[in-house]
Order: sequence, then structure tokens, then C-alpha cells
Amino acid sequence: MHMPQDAPVRSKDNFLVFGSPYIGEEEIDEVVNCLRSGWIGTGPKVAKFENNFARYKQSQYAVALSSCTAALHLSMLASGLKSGDEVITTPLTFCATVNAIIHSGATPVLADVCSETMNIDPEQVRKKITSRTRAILPVHFAGRPCDMGGLVELVQEHNLLLIEDCAHAIESTWRGKPTGTFGQYGCFSFYATKNVVTGEGGMLITSDEHAASRIKTLGLHGMSKDAWKRFSDSGYKHYFVTDAGFKCNMTDLQASLGLHQLERVERCWVRRQEIWEKYNDAFSALPLTLPADVPDYMRHAYHLYTILVDEERVGISRDKMLGAFTEEGIGVGVHYLSIPEHPFYQQTFGWRPEDYPNAMRIGRQTISLPLSVKLTDDDVNDVICAVRKICRRG
Ligand SMILES: *Cc1c(COP(=O)(O)O)cnc(C)c1O
Repeated sequence: MHMPQDAPVRSKDNFLVFGSPYIGEEEIDEVVNCLRSGWIGTGPKVAKFENNFARYKQSQYAVALSSCTAALHLSMLASGLKSGDEVITTPLTFCATVNAIIHSGATPVLADVCSETMNIDPEQVRKKITSRTRAILPVHFAGRPCDMGGLVELVQEHNLLLIEDCAHAIESTWRGKPTGTFGQYGCFSFYATKNVVTGEGGMLITSDEHAASRIKTLGLHGMSKDAWKRFSDSGYKHYFVTDAGFKCNMTDLQASLGLHQLERVERCWVRRQEIWEKYNDAFSALPLTLPADVPDYMRHAYHLYTILVDEERVGISRDKMLGAFTEEGIGVGVHYLSIPEHPFYQQTFGWRPEDYPNAMRIGRQTISLPLSVKLTDDDVNDVICAVRKICRRG
């Protein structure tokens, strides 16, 4: 049968969902086991997940929480940030990074990214350091480690805290050292589209035993450590409230997913690297900007594969291209419109996109293509066909 020239790459009822997680039978069995055990709150599976995660990241302590946002928030609260303290972060991030700074009582300050790596530029950070600066909060964008040499130098020179937003960077290392272990805290996300998923969930890692215990307490109403054990068979134990805490503990139901996701994390990484390389080969001759090469001294987590769409070169605007992908049945993402594009931050801090030109340009040109381990080779080919078709049409 003759196919019309403009038949979409995938039909409507076969839409390729962006960031769809792979959930194995192991996770399903573990969740059922958890349900049958009757212990669905914070308990032994969370403790095991924390141990396994700490070991994977070569960190001493890990605290499981309800989200990366909570991990960022509590790490800044535990650092004792006060009103007027400044925290320098990137304009090319999810709003949660900046909101967590605001909720800790501190003032966010943005430093522009490097145009190739899309990561915060230590030279831009240096220009933003004042007598009020207390912390640097880098984001390892897309899973590519930041320039940790440059950032650690600034942190030491100015005696600052370093809190890493590792929402994209579970598997990443920089000169062999795992991301999240360069400063006081590393914060991870297990949101549905991330490299390890628990539905919703997050983890904080630290080498500071006291901080880990304080954050655990802050995440569970401010109740003294191990309050979750108080109903166990060792008899009733009183708990004492030592802080006006929050409610952002992880549950065993979530940890049931995380335990098996973490076991598979390296195999999934290999598959995403394979997809990444297929995209690199397939798109090398197209008028698009592809992700920068990954130097030998770092390990990329391959969380997001981003293309930059320059309308002058491709003949189609980024926003039109987003629509074209939808028409081709391919789900894509935008990571991210730069933070100063949003009205709240403009009104509250007077930020303007033009003041962070690299983040602004990336935010206005970027499209994230599907990179889930759930993609079959046919799915990957469909994405490649759609990209080629849209670029050809221009
Ligand atoms: C997803 C994400 C977060 C928030 O993670 P949650 O677990 O959803 O709170 C924070 N920062 C970045 C860069 C993210 O991508």
C-alpha cells in the first residue's frame, strides 16, 4: 500500500512517551512482598536501600527522603543558613533547585553556565561571590559532571559549603570521584523520569554522621532518631521531638522499587550510552548542536540527550520543532527554560534572561530526546527518523 508522504513516524495510539521508566518483575514482586508484610511505611527496606546507595556512591551515610527537593531543602536547613546568606546556583536547572534555597531562608544568586558543557561556570561563580556567600549549589546537568576542580578551589578559597544537585547524576564521576561526594551534601532524585525511580523519592549523602542523623530527624517531624522502630517487637519506646521538623521520609513501598532499580543501574547506564552513541552517529551531519564530547576524566550519567535548535541553521524554530515531534508521535522534553524566564523570579529578584546569556540561549534552543532504557532499537530508530525528517523539512 502506498503511504502518504507525510504519514507520522509513529501513530497516535503508539505515542513514544518521554522518560517512561523501566519497571522489572523484581520491583513488582518486592512491592507485593512489602504490601503482604504489613510494613509499608519507613522501615527495613528503606534502611537497606540507604545502605546500598551509600555503598554505590562510596559515601559514608545516606538518608532516604521523599524527593531531591526535600534533600536540597533539608541539607541547607541543617547547614544553618540564615536570612541574607547567599547561595550561588545555575540558571539552567529545574525550579526546585532555586525554590529549595528560598525555603531554607537564604537568597539564591545565579551564575551563568558554560555554553558547551551547560554546567555552571566557575569563572562566573567567582564574579558572584560576596561577603554574604555561604554555599555553592551546582547541578550536574544532564548527568555531565561540573568542573569540580574549579568549584572545589572556590569553595576552599572562600570557605563555602558545597551542596551538589545530583538529580541527573547518579552514575557520574569526576576524576574517579563520585558526584555528590565533593562537598558536604549530595542530593539525588528518584522521580519517575530519572535514572533510578521510586515513583517519588530522593536521597541525601554525606560523610558527616551528625548531619545525617539531624537530617533524618528533620525529615520525620523532628522526632528523635529511629522513631520508626518504636512499634517493633522490642517493646514500646518513647520518642522525643528535638526539632520542628518536616514530613519527607521515604517509605518501604518506594524503597521496594529503589532496591531493584539500583541493582540494575549499571546495566541501564550501558544501554543509555549505546542509545547516546547511536544518536551521535545518526545526527552528526545534521544542522543541530549535539551534546559536547565527554572527556576521559569524567563519567557522564547519560540522563538527558539534548539537541540545540538554531532556527537560522535548521530553518525551523525550537517551539515549532517541539510541535513537529508531537505530530510524529515522539515525546520530547525541554530542560530547561532558564530560571530567569519565569515570572516569579523576575518579580522577586529582578532577574532577566539576558543577564545569563548562555543559559537563556540553551533554554530557548534545547530539546531533550527520549533516552530511557525502555526504548527498543525500533523506538530509537523512530526517534532518529523523526529528527531527520523534521530537519529535512526545515
Ligand atoms: C528532578 C530534579 C529535581 C527535583 O527532584 P524531585 O525528586 O522531583 O524533588 C531537582 N533538581 C533537578 C536538576 C532535577 O532535574
